[in-house]
Amino acid sequence: MTSPAPKSGSGTNHRSLLARIEVKLETPREYRGSEIIGDLRGVAETLFYPFKFVGFWDGHTGNHLCPMKEAGKDCPHGEDAAAKSAYAVTIEDELAGELEVVFPHADLTVYLG
Ligand SMILES: [Zn+2]
Repeated sequence: MTSPAPKSGSGTNHRSLLARIEVKLETPREYRGSEIIGDLRGVAETLFYPFKFVGFWDGHTGNHLCPMKEAGKDCPHGEDAAAKSAYAVTIEDELAGELEVVFPHADLTVYLG
């Protein structure tokens, strides 16, 4: 099991069962890896074939692929850090997600299932 960094402040501790994978890019300052979600989706799917994209979370904006919104309902997640945990639960429960692939250089997380 992974042991995520302890969260500041307790509360509803809905522990995620997603396997957390971090893909770190170490580059010289003048070279930056792509931060485009479509690109990183491709990277994640290539690295962990045959898993497929089921969602993403943008740490800059809280933007995410929301199945509730897609279905014409209100997004129950929000856009802050706690919202990401709530979204991870949706990924697991509604979308059968298994992998959480984090790209720290882009502050983007791609979920595969
Ligand atoms: Zn949402």
